[in-house]
Amino acid sequence: MKFFSLTKTAMIAASIVALSFLSLNAGEKFTPLIVIHGGTSKLDLSQDEFMLRAEPMKKALKAGQAVLEKGGTAMDAVTAAIIILEDDPNLNAGKGAVFTSDGFNELDASIMDGATKKAGGVAMSRHIKNPILGARLVMEKTWHTLIAGEGADKLAKANGLEMVEQEYYFTQKRYDQLKKAKEKQQLMLMKDDDKSNKLAALKDKAEPYLGTVGAIALDKNGNLAAATSTGGMTNKMTGRIGDSPIIGSGTYADNDSVAVSCTGTGDIYMRVNAAHEVSAHYKYAGGDVQKAAENAIKQVDALGGSGGIISIDKNGKIGFAWTKHKLGMYHGEAKVGSEPIVHWPVGK
Ligand code: ASP
Repeated sequence: MKFFSLTKTAMIAASIVALSFLSLNAGEKFTPLIVIHGGTSKLDLSQDEFMLRAEPMKKALKAGQAVLEKGGTAMDAVTAAIIILEDDPNLNAGKGAVFTSDGFNELDASIMDGATKKAGGVAMSRHIKNPILGARLVMEKTWHTLIAGEGADKLAKANGLEMVEQEYYFTQKRYDQLKKAKEKQQLMLMKDDDKSNKLAALKDKAEPYLGTVGAIALDKNGNLAAATSTGGMTNKMTGRIGDSPIIGSGTYADNDSVAVSCTGTGDIYMRVNAAHEVSAHYKYAGGDVQKAAENAIKQVDALGGSGGIISIDKNGKIGFAWTKHKLGMYHGEAKVGSEPIVHWPVGK
């Protein structure tokens, strides 16, 4: 009897070892997942305000998750999620984008494939319905990485992307925000030598309801991808380009480290190279994705900026960080096989 039970235990132990070996061989060390952000929030957020962005975010997570569930690529998952967020008027990307100081909507977006490190971006587009598709076009059909203004619109039109007039992006809420920002002179240009004033304007008066969108994903083959899309910042100078279309500032993906998307005061993120900074910290300082995101946010904060970062590492671990004393960050996640979650943006 004793012999039998020992043999049985040994057999069970052997099969557990065999199973884990198999799963390791099959590359099942992680569950494919998508993580998104919907920009920043004020600190005293109400439940109703939360729901306005949380609902489209849940839809976007489901769309990305569906791609991953069918064995699709991280690139396709982030693209599917961003399109939903761009089409929703409650987020600052595509329809519902914020206005420049001259009353235009100028859209920035970028995308990066961690497997090939290919990337593409569009900036200051005034007519592409889904700027993320413009960014992907730049990546896939040109040998450039960033195309701005009329050139971006021209390229998109020539390649059959859906084009819209400026009126398409209009929402009364964003227009009212522009009027209010102008009254308060938020983000108006300071004298170049008056650096402290310039920072104070960004730090203390920056409009907290930004709503830029970002998505990062890890697919079943271990490929990472990242994408970001925005209308920028209310009352930005016409022609201003932020971090979102800049690879390494607002977006980054590298299969050897992490995928990253940022939101916040882009003019500061660009000086920190925030997205690449997460990857560098991960690679060279111990491989902790949460610490890597926090380190980049600390640098943004130190220069007077505010905002947040989402990141996934090559093993599917998630890093969320934001300037918690200044604002919140809308963020959500969906693992294959689990219900998508949009987290309350404030605190934690
Ligand atoms: N980073 C964006 C920009 O500066 C704005 C945002 O994320 O809300 O254009």
